[in-house]
Amino acid sequence: MISQNIYQSFKAMVGPGRVSQAPEDLVVASYDASKNLARPEMVVKPLTATEVSRIIRLAYENNIPVYPRGAASGMTGGTLALKGGIALDTSLMNRILEINPEDMIAMVEPGVVVADFQKQVETHGLFYPPDPASAEFSTMGGNVAECAGGVRCIKYGVTRDYVLGLEVVLPNGEIIHTGSHTLKSVTGYDLTRLLVGSEGTLGVFTRITVRLVPLPEKVETLVAFFTNLHEVWQFSRWLAQERIWPRALEVMDETCLRAIRNYQPEFEITPSARTMLLIEVDGGQAETTLLGQKIHTQLEAMGALQTIRANDAAQASRCLRIRDAPYHNIGAQYLWSIRKAISPALYSIAPKKISEDICVPRSKILKILEIIKELESKYLIPVAIFGHLGDGNLHVHFLIFTPRQETNLDGALEALFRETVRLGGTLSGEHGIGITKSKYLPLEVRAGELKLMQQLKTLLDPKGIMNPGKICPE
Ligand SMILES: Cc1cc2nc3c(=O)[nH]c(=O)nc-3n(C[C@H](O)[C@H](O)[C@H](O)COP(=O)(O)OP(=O)(O)OC[C@H]3O[C@@H](n4cnc5c(N)ncnc54)[C@H](O)[C@@H]3O)c2cc1C
Repeated sequence: MISQNIYQSFKAMVGPGRVSQAPEDLVVASYDASKNLARPEMVVKPLTATEVSRIIRLAYENNIPVYPRGAASGMTGGTLALKGGIALDTSLMNRILEINPEDMIAMVEPGVVVADFQKQVETHGLFYPPDPASAEFSTMGGNVAECAGGVRCIKYGVTRDYVLGLEVVLPNGEIIHTGSHTLKSVTGYDLTRLLVGSEGTLGVFTRITVRLVPLPEKVETLVAFFTNLHEVWQFSRWLAQERIWPRALEVMDETCLRAIRNYQPEFEITPSARTMLLIEVDGGQAETTLLGQKIHTQLEAMGALQTIRANDAAQASRCLRIRDAPYHNIGAQYLWSIRKAISPALYSIAPKKISEDICVPRSKILKILEIIKELESKYLIPVAIFGHLGDGNLHVHFLIFTPRQETNLDGALEALFRETVRLGGTLSGEHGIGITKSKYLPLEVRAGELKLMQQLKTLLDPKGIMNPGKICPE
């Protein structure tokens, strides 16, 4: 419990406007995108690392749990205040501190929204590739804490691959700096890599240094509709044979297309289409244009029912409706908006859905898709699948309509995770473990390694105040 005395101390520390126990503020801080609920006792919005340090030191001295919080778009309950305490909202720490084209690095505060950062970087002719579908609202701090992935991982990797260094407030209030501002460094243990993906359980990031790469001159975006997933798979094999390395290769199944038709009928997807594939390639102007043409030709040769190629960079920023435009006049942003509409669209056909983000080796994608179909029949829960075909990371959505399906869900999830691990895969490709997957962790992480993770947590957070109850609670 936060006593009135301690609450007054927090208020004196950061000023009344940025500390609150008002019910409406506590309710807002009770949720994240996992749709679970846990209410903190206080919300604080610090402005600087020094303030974060003072808040955490006082919390540490009084054994009060602290939960770092970005945009709360996390899918696994990572921000939820399971044991009361303080929601530490980083949204006001939102300055881009440096973009340095010569050193090819940038430094940001944790509350910077990813898409805002990407746009700023692009004005320098540079590129920050990590691109979760939540980029328009999720924060850099949240992305680092979850090691967010997204649609460009096949070619460019995940958030971890771009973080060079961190400023972190540890659970006792101490401020530390990890990594360096250089593009290479192997000095000592790699603390940065330990902290990236730590889901707010080891400390609060207050500054993040990332590397940047040159902005590709040209991007080609294509969408194709097929009658089945096997055709899509054949196309992805053709890409590999041709040594074409797309920057995005996104697939959606029949249930996703049904949801999209229901949710946004203006998309007018060919009625016989059962699968959608979105392909994006980038690089130099001339070679990428040729590649776009080559891919278009191949998609049609492989029997795509409908193929749409976004025409050029100028139109990529326009959102034309398919029915308002000839197929040669559709922007990439519009094609992406079909892909990005799936998650809300699925709610238009099911009152509740549980989203998983398993990842399997690319060679096992067809096998896991078969297994998921079997689970659908065995547990009588409809499943919708979309995801990153290029890197084996599939978003498997269990659609819940009845209490019986709710009862069957746990068995279906456990079976999915067991089969994924059996195929050499992993429980989470990008959404993290949080609270929703922590009970399944032993399916993948052996007892010895789990113990080591718990010991590392205890070493950095002996009182267990930093985001308790997440990942691997003892
Ligand atoms: C529609 C939608 C689409 C999505 N698409 C993708 C996708 O394509 N790829 C993907 O990877 N994820 C995706 N996500 C999940 C989510 O957006 C990411 O996990 C994102 O990284 C969370 O960022 P956030 O700012 O919302 O963090 P929050 O949800 O606020 O927090 C997430 C975790 O990070 C911790 N945290 C936050 N800030 C800090 C900090 N400064 N220091 C230490 N810990 C911190 C929190 O304690 C929590 O454990 C999607 C979510 C939605 C709702």
